[in-house]
Amino acid sequence: MSRLVTTRGTVTIDVERCKGCELCIPACPPGVLSMSTARNDRGELYPLLSPGCTGCGACYYVCPDLCFAIYQYNKPQEIEVPA
Ligand code: SF4
Ligand code: SF4
Repeated sequence: MSRLVTTRGTVTIDVERCKGCELCIPACPPGVLSMSTARNDRGELYPLLSPGCTGCGACYYVCPDLCFAIYQYNKPQEIEVPA
């Protein structure tokens, strides 16, 4: 089984800059960021992106360490994900 998720943008995450503060997790309106179980070279957990980003930029503005870059798609994309 799978479902389609509308995705209007994406982000890149510089995980090695991340200090694991988790401010970005609740700041993401569609809730598509979650913390990793693996750790970066600083020994910190870091955010991972699931489908459904809107490219809103909230994570960019909340991150104290400028880990995010934001991209908005010209047209929304439907991404198939496991149900
Ligand atoms: S750009 Fe917006 S929707 Fe996308 S990951 Fe960041 S906060 Fe979430
Ligand atoms: S807000 Fe920035 S520093 Fe904090 S967990 Fe998210 S990416 Fe890492």
